[in-house]
Amino acid sequence: MAETIFDVVVVGGGPAGYTCAIRAAQYGLKVALVDANERLGGTCLLWGCIPTKALLFSSELWDQIHHADRYGIEGVGDAAKLNWKAVLARKDDVITRHTKGLDFLMKKNKITTFKGFGTLTGAAKDGVHTVDVKGTDGKAQVIKAKKVVLATGSNARMLPGYAADETILTNYEILKIDAVPKSLVVIGSGAVGIEFASIFKSFGAEVTILEMLPRIVPVEDEEISKELLRLMKKRGFDINLSIKDTKIEKNKDGALVSYTDQNGKPQTKQAEKVLVAVGRAPRTEGLGLEKTKITTERGFIMTNEWQETVEPGIYAIGDIVGGLPQLAHVGSMAGLIVAAKLAGKYARPINRTRIPGCTYCEPQIASVGLSEAKAKEQGYTVKVGKFPFVGNSKATILDAHDGFIKVVADAKFGEILGVHIIGPAATEIIAEAVTAIELEATVEEMMFTIHAHPTVAEALLDAYSSVEGKAVNV
Ligand SMILES: Cc1cc2nc3c(=O)[nH]c(=O)nc-3n(C[C@H](O)[C@H](O)[C@H](O)COP(=O)(O)OP(=O)(O)OC[C@H]3O[C@@H](n4cnc5c(N)ncnc54)[C@H](O)[C@@H]3O)c2cc1C
Repeated sequence: MAETIFDVVVVGGGPAGYTCAIRAAQYGLKVALVDANERLGGTCLLWGCIPTKALLFSSELWDQIHHADRYGIEGVGDAAKLNWKAVLARKDDVITRHTKGLDFLMKKNKITTFKGFGTLTGAAKDGVHTVDVKGTDGKAQVIKAKKVVLATGSNARMLPGYAADETILTNYEILKIDAVPKSLVVIGSGAVGIEFASIFKSFGAEVTILEMLPRIVPVEDEEISKELLRLMKKRGFDINLSIKDTKIEKNKDGALVSYTDQNGKPQTKQAEKVLVAVGRAPRTEGLGLEKTKITTERGFIMTNEWQETVEPGIYAIGDIVGGLPQLAHVGSMAGLIVAAKLAGKYARPINRTRIPGCTYCEPQIASVGLSEAKAKEQGYTVKVGKFPFVGNSKATILDAHDGFIKVVADAKFGEILGVHIIGPAATEIIAEAVTAIELEATVEEMMFTIHAHPTVAEALLDAYSSVEGKAVNV
């Protein structure tokens, strides 16, 4: 039988890789997908976006149930019991349903899947690349393809000199702990740290957050960081900023975390568990990059705007790529772009300023575009509007008045440059702001865009209007 030569082999079956594979197949290309894990879905589905949101949903329900009498439902608050094993089982069930869904989509789109670890063998020979696969069953296989897409994702970073175990956890271990810890120290206050902090606080843990920068969620607009800090402190989090020299010493009750506080004073905190959430490193070990011309910066693969590496015929997408935020929707969009390019179809590159970022804590935060400081840095004269959720009737119905929407606009032409939300349904309503920014909408255009009532989304209408000092509901 003639050897199969695929049009494209995708190495890595996370959101970047599987999205690319499916779209390429939809365009009629012959596609192979290799993944080192027994189940498809990558970090996002197995240990990231999906499991955390499943746990967050349970934790939000738990919070709501405890306040049920506020809504006229009596007799459930104090009677509620937490079955942590069932919470984890429900989270696992959500994952399983979607991994099965991915298996179905592979079959539906006639994608040939390989379970194993893929390694590049070098440049293409006569226009054909060879990827070696060490199967999860130990068998070696060889895949030939005209193009290669690398989508091998990322691993949690650990503090230097430590290894993850049953006390010092990353996002991987914490999803399997057998009970809610009485106390948890979270090192790092990016989205991952803040989300786990929020989950375990709701379930009753005493949570301490240690952040080396002067603010939490440091990639967000400063006012958002400030408001989240205020609201999290109100919820009872112990938050310590500008800390340094963090050390973890395990003991019989968990671990003693020592650090230097912002005043230069040594401090300690004892906790049952410690979550290290200090960022994610690109997963390129063993990938065979050294056999190619592919360039890296701090381990991240460098590409042009079409996700092409400098090695002809090899593309990279998702968390392994430098210069883009490590988010599932960024990886999957990069996958769609590469698939379109390979098929000779219309595509346009990712625009860095049109990427939404969400943190699913309580209250949620979501943003797109430029922060006020970044817009000024880029030379814009800005006009800013702010609308508090206290003026939104749906927020009152939801009993969720905390937070606001901040709109950053160009003073000269009125173009919306950034939208920053902290408050109810922030991660859902940000979609409208993404569309507005994508279509280069002006404040005026959005002020005359009809928003359904009563919705949380109509707070956006007031927020756009507030740029012109014309919010109706404040
Ligand atoms: C706790 C947590 C919560 C998160 N929440 C969100 C969120 O809410 N929203 C969001 O947008 N992002 C979130 N993220 C980030 C998101 O998970 C990542 O951006 C996303 O998974 C990256 O996708 P990817 O396809 O590049 O890589 P991955 O999802 O890491 O997938 C890479 C795949 O490649 C496979 N692989 C690796 N090396 C090889 C090899 N050599 N051969 C074959 N296969 C290989 C791996 O087995 C894996 O399946 C979260 C991350 C974490 C840790």
